[in-house]
Amino acid sequence: MTEAGAEPTTTQVLIIGGGPGGYVAGIRAGQLGLDVTVVDAQPMGGTCLNVGCIPSKAIIHAADEFAAARAKTDKPEMGISVAAVSIDLAATMAWKDDIVGRLNDGVTGLLKRAGARVIAGRAELIDGKTARVTTNDGEALTIAAEHVVIATGSAPIELRHLPFGETAFGAVISSTEALALDHVPERLVVVGGGYIGLELGEAFAKLGSAVTVVEAEQQILPLYDRRLTMPLGRKLKRLGVEVLTGARAIGLDPTGLLVEVGGADYGNERRTLPADRVLVTVGRRPVTDGWGLENVSLTMNDRFVAIDERCHTSMKNVWAIGDVTGEPMLAHRAMKQGEVVAEAIAGEPTVFDARAIPAIVFTDPEIVSVGLGPDEAADELGSIGVEVVEGRFSLAANGRSMTLRPDQNASAADAGFFRILARADNHLVVGIQAVGQGVAELAAAFGLAVEMGARLEDIADTIHAHPTVGEGLAEASAASLGHAIHG
Ligand code: FAD
Ligand code: NAD
Repeated sequence: MTEAGAEPTTTQVLIIGGGPGGYVAGIRAGQLGLDVTVVDAQPMGGTCLNVGCIPSKAIIHAADEFAAARAKTDKPEMGISVAAVSIDLAATMAWKDDIVGRLNDGVTGLLKRAGARVIAGRAELIDGKTARVTTNDGEALTIAAEHVVIATGSAPIELRHLPFGETAFGAVISSTEALALDHVPERLVVVGGGYIGLELGEAFAKLGSAVTVVEAEQQILPLYDRRLTMPLGRKLKRLGVEVLTGARAIGLDPTGLLVEVGGADYGNERRTLPADRVLVTVGRRPVTDGWGLENVSLTMNDRFVAIDERCHTSMKNVWAIGDVTGEPMLAHRAMKQGEVVAEAIAGEPTVFDARAIPAIVFTDPEIVSVGLGPDEAADELGSIGVEVVEGRFSLAANGRSMTLRPDQNASAADAGFFRILARADNHLVVGIQAVGQGVAELAAAFGLAVEMGARLEDIADTIHAHPTVGEGLAEASAASLGHAIHG
């Protein structure tokens, strides 16, 4: 690795952005013997590592620990009581920052080991083969590359009438600021009941904030079917989170957020939601500014850089990966594209051809979806005249799941369930979903099953270790074949 200031002016592969897309592309390109340079002004790891996946999961875990301890101060659970519990959020954030720092160093080390060059700075394309780089030290470099990979990621969407920044009552913030708070807000209003709003909103509720979620659509997590999101909705209610669906944020007033709540329940009621912080999580936009898009001639796909199945753009030897290329904006999609693009540049016949990109909502309960959901399966298979067979298994009947729940009086529906969807004609599995405690880790098993073309019988006949939550997958498969044992 060359330090900024001593780097060569030519490279075979120039990667703009060191997020999960860019850094993985850098490592894979180095492994393949390509001369590769990765440029990013931020520590390696991008949104995901610095202000996204990792910090949010750290705070979610800390919130779970805090809430579990706090519950035992009210009354003993599992024979355990806790005298008193408190949280020093600044110390929690320092713990999270330490994890992030170690991973930043780890990624930089991996790039170095693969022979990649890292430059701390910002890159701007002058044309399809040349970039101007301003290093973090203020040095100006010109780098000529045979191949350019655009991996500039995404940024939070800012609503015009709710600009990020300080307000009379406190502040309007994005997820980045929420993940750096040094105290727990007393009243947190979250605009947007999607991934970030629910993951962080629920975590802050567990940490002690009074939380209200304002969602424009008629349900939270509108991309998921209601059956999957219902256990989460009920848990939010038990935590005291107020969820306003079909609600529109109109603007701010001196005490908080002004909303209009529509629909049969409310008429068109206007309300002020008092707040210390308003967290806006209404999606992310691709970063298409600041890297010289105006100096090249790229075909766009709506807001995103258009690419083919090898991550090649409309310009020769200009490639793009990750969030800047479209939905789903997920780190593991960016990472896989990073591998694909490096291999494509090295001349290998690789394409991005995933049968399924797993999606996980890291709420409590967790939600996992791989492949087609029930409506998509009905539409897609229905269009070729194939029926769908579905199997479900409730986690209320799963022993391991029961040992994880302190409250045995919770309703069976709250325990969650597994669902498997397959073609009725040949039993090929087309989708698997689950909601419940500890199901996120099962995304690996679900992904393997769908990617490898498993049939219901393959899963039902696989011996699943006991006692595990994952037994639910075999049970759901057996249920679809009409012979579940515990369901
Ligand atoms: P990014 O990670 O956004 O990285 C792009 C990099 O490019 C940045 O470091 C930026 O500094 C750099 N850059 C931009 N312009 C320039 C320039 N001109 N010169 C040099 N560098 C430049 N996804 C999941 O799969 N699982 C999760 O649990 C998850 N949780 C999330 C939680 C939060 C709070 C957020 C905000 C996101 C989360 N995501 C999650 C989404 C995930 O972070 C993104 O999908 C992923 O980071 C995209 O990777 P990327 O490489 O495309 O871009
Ligand atoms: P999102 O798309 O998940 O959710 C945005 C929500 O805001 C939607 O439900 C939408 O209906 C709602 N909305 C939009 N405009 C609104 C308005 N004006 N008022 C009220 N509600 C409004 O977006 P996000 O939560 O910001 O997350 C961005 C992306 O980051 C996600 O799409 C996902 O790709 C990624 N992410 C993934 C994970 C994960 O994998 N666990 C976690 C966090 C983020």
